[in-house]
Amino acid sequence: MYWRRATTATILRRTMTNHSPLPTPLGDVPTATFRAAMHRVADMVADYLDRVGEYPVLPRIAPGEVRAALPASPPPAPEALDDLLADYRRIIEPNVTHWNHPGFMAYFAITGSAPGILGEMLAAGLNVNAMLWRTGPAPTELEELVTDWLRQMIGLPAAFRGHINDTASISSLLAIAAARHRVNGGDVRTRGMAGRSDLPALTVYASEQAHSSVDKAVITLGLGHENLRKVDVDAEFRMDVAALEQAIAEDRAAGKRPIAIVATAGTTSTTSVDPLRATAAVARREGLWLHVDAAYAGSAAICPEYRALLDGLEEADSVVLNPHKWLFTPVDCSVLLLRDPEAMRAAFALTPEYLRTGDSGVTNLMDYGPQLGRRFRALKLWFVIRAFGVRGLQDRIRAHCALAQEFASWVLAERGFEVCAPHPFSTVCFRAVTGGATASEDALNERILAEVNAAGPVFLSHTRLRDRIVLRLSVGNLRTAREHVAKAWELVRAAAARG
Ligand SMILES: *Cc1c(COP(=O)(O)O)cnc(C)c1O
Repeated sequence: MYWRRATTATILRRTMTNHSPLPTPLGDVPTATFRAAMHRVADMVADYLDRVGEYPVLPRIAPGEVRAALPASPPPAPEALDDLLADYRRIIEPNVTHWNHPGFMAYFAITGSAPGILGEMLAAGLNVNAMLWRTGPAPTELEELVTDWLRQMIGLPAAFRGHINDTASISSLLAIAAARHRVNGGDVRTRGMAGRSDLPALTVYASEQAHSSVDKAVITLGLGHENLRKVDVDAEFRMDVAALEQAIAEDRAAGKRPIAIVATAGTTSTTSVDPLRATAAVARREGLWLHVDAAYAGSAAICPEYRALLDGLEEADSVVLNPHKWLFTPVDCSVLLLRDPEAMRAAFALTPEYLRTGDSGVTNLMDYGPQLGRRFRALKLWFVIRAFGVRGLQDRIRAHCALAQEFASWVLAERGFEVCAPHPFSTVCFRAVTGGATASEDALNERILAEVNAAGPVFLSHTRLRDRIVLRLSVGNLRTAREHVAKAWELVRAAAARG
């Protein structure tokens, strides 16, 4: 119809007269502007790493201050990248907790190392989503390759295949999901668990020192928190295998169905290592999946002398270790190694029509968990392993352990302090002791921690062992040197002297 065409033409003409020429071209920021900003960012990151040690580890900031410094609503008009970078520098950078600080010795210290940062930046440029081999051939194959390098580095059999998740929490959840899938030939996947009289409670076993992520995994998987059995530990905080066997026997007698054991190699409080070989024997005999949570100490296993402390690791069905924890890879990068990857595939693989490809003989990483999209995390890990080499990584792990051992020797030699647990790796639990009442000793240690952390140069954390407040110092940052550990000790002693 002529009038309709005329109307369209009029609308088009009006559009063009009203809106053209546009104030800026559409599309991304122009290449020249981006390139200049990217160079500035390179300088900002390098400068930050150079002077991060000058910041207090914990920013001196009250809740709400960052938000209050920023506009509450988004900018209607474009802003210059230089302004963004200036605000980043002024408001954001000083107000993070500085995990890349040499004085960061709380929790488990980590490092976003230079090669890892390069990998992370390049991955951002590619912006690849490696859900399928087809959607990310190099990322998929590099993820397979670099997790196999790691497998070799920690001495696991060739059968193990790896993939990368965001966190150990998710890696452990997936391992327990694979264990759950073995029940009744995979029927939980089809029928679920609710409303079934034929399905007993499914139980999981971990030591009472296991990480809270195991609790969250059983909660998330619908197993029920009470069906995570917390097994007692021995005097050195390792799972008591006799108590484990007894718990399994009791549950079976009560009609429950044990499905998995989570052993920890390097517990979060003390870095104790459960007896892996004996636990594996129980798992084998009972037909249970053995998952080993080696989020921290798995990195140390690249050194033969520390791998020896994880004897029996090779007997596991699955192992998680976090290169983003102690292998100098930027957050996030958690590697899950599976003896039988098909068990994980069976639990999760599901391909809708729109994700079908004709590719055969390839890995589609979406098959190994619930997530479809996948960031290219293998690149940064590949850069880290290549830039330092296995020997360089081993030397750094050993140096961190040596610093922690030296710190422990200072504590041991000091009257009024004690070391509270074995410290086989780079983490030491210690406390001030007065011989007074428990409550007043705990209060003293809490005061020491608060004063030390308020000082600025270092950040320590705490835990509770045998119902006592215990301080923790963990070495794991590439910038941490003897002087930083010595500073921590000086601050602790001074705070203790003040009482
Ligand atoms: C740090 C840690 C975790 C949790 O790691 P995320 O990657 O943050 O989930 C789990 N288990 C152990 C033993 C850990 O030390």
